[in-house]
Amino acid sequence: MDNSGKLNPQKVVVVGAGPVGALAALYAAKRGDEVHVYELRDDLRQSSTIPLNFTKSINLALSERGIHSMRQSHCDDLLQHVLKETIPMHARMIHGRRKNGSLYEESQAYDANGRHIRAVDRASLNKRLLETSGKMPNVTLHFNHKLIGADFDKRTAWFEEQSRTKTTGHAQNPTQDGVGDMEPERPKEFEVKYDLLIGADGAHSAVRRHMMKYARVNYTQEYIDTLWCEFQIKPKSPDGSFAIDPNHLHIWPAGSFMFIAIPSLDKSFTCTLFAPASHFSSISANPQQTLPQFFHKYFPGVSPDLIPPMELVNQFYENPHLPLISIKCRPYHYKSSVVILGDAAHAMVPFYGQGMNAGLEDVRVLFEILDRQGVYDHRDMTGKNARMQAREAALDAYTNQRAPDAAAINDLALRNYEEMRSSVQSPLYKIRKWMEEA
Ligand code: FAD
Repeated sequence: MDNSGKLNPQKVVVVGAGPVGALAALYAAKRGDEVHVYELRDDLRQSSTIPLNFTKSINLALSERGIHSMRQSHCDDLLQHVLKETIPMHARMIHGRRKNGSLYEESQAYDANGRHIRAVDRASLNKRLLETSGKMPNVTLHFNHKLIGADFDKRTAWFEEQSRTKTTGHAQNPTQDGVGDMEPERPKEFEVKYDLLIGADGAHSAVRRHMMKYARVNYTQEYIDTLWCEFQIKPKSPDGSFAIDPNHLHIWPAGSFMFIAIPSLDKSFTCTLFAPASHFSSISANPQQTLPQFFHKYFPGVSPDLIPPMELVNQFYENPHLPLISIKCRPYHYKSSVVILGDAAHAMVPFYGQGMNAGLEDVRVLFEILDRQGVYDHRDMTGKNARMQAREAALDAYTNQRAPDAAAINDLALRNYEEMRSSVQSPLYKIRKWMEEA
């Protein structure tokens, strides 16, 4: 506390500027903290940087869980801007083929009262969050900075400024047009002191890895036997309209695998094939021949109607075939020094559409608890270590409240894979639905 009785700002270091880190920076800045965000990659606001796991920007389902967390940041216009860049999805559309060979579509509403989820472009949401937090005078964003170590007892973290290519000779002067010799710049390492470090550095979190040397963290991870690959349905030619209904999340269920499509603002659809690794291997042996047949058999109406066979094959070649990881751990914190949020704490398979939503909710829950424990209330901060103690109690309460909740969402996500790829089309599903509605 300073002489005027005002609380000194805490120095908060956020590692990772994905959606969760960007929102956490905003919440801390709104409470007067001095916030420094360190992000491994380039500035998303100025480039078309793609998140590590994605080839293009992907579309996500944004739900009330995530929306409410942005609303509670109390940043004028943030939510308004974000929602303007979304497309409501009121129902899922199940695509299939009847026994007589004819195709059908069945719309299954998400909510009896008309509530809906929204399709959002992950990169534009991330960019909007970063732009909003970056405008706060007490937030500094450091891009191309990688966390390489931490001493959580001494509240010290080490970062490496990622090497960029340095030009020597006259090309160092950007006004001259010659090309100098290129040599890699040696990465610079430096030390950062902080009061609270927030690890929002994704599924392969370095913060979590270092925290495990300090806290007795129970940790499990599981790669499910499913890979995913992105495809795209282009807008209809020649009028450029949506090729299928834009207010649905489209699913082609096929028992042990599925194909889904989520609308984009440019009137295309970002699609994902989820299938066991063995299917990817057998298709990969000769995609030209097998992929169009595979789609014809299992995903009726997709190719050639929505994606020409050549494009299907090219996209299968060009886009990576990526794994899906599910992570649970506990605790999420160490003393009053560090806490992990988002995928760093609970990466989940995407079938419940809640990974990012749950991460954004982490931020809201964490700061509500910090507020409740009086971390930002100067009246309670009389002793020297009072604030640290309040912070430790808050982080403790956070782990106790949040870890079981996140683990439950994680389990639901795993279970919903069965629902999406299979149960949505089973007669039992229909009977159950009919009974619910009766
Ligand atoms: P990330 O988005 O992974 O961001 C972490 C950031 O930390 C990155 O920018 C990274 O560069 C940075 N970083 C990493 N290491 C370091 C380091 N050492 N130092 C500094 N910075 C570092 N979620 C939904 O809610 N709805 C959906 O519909 C949905 N669909 C999905 C579909 C697919 C196919 C997949 C794979 C995921 C989906 N998700 C969905 C999950 C969602 O993408 C993640 O939950 C979300 O991106 C997690 O956000 P995050 O900020 O915690 O982590």
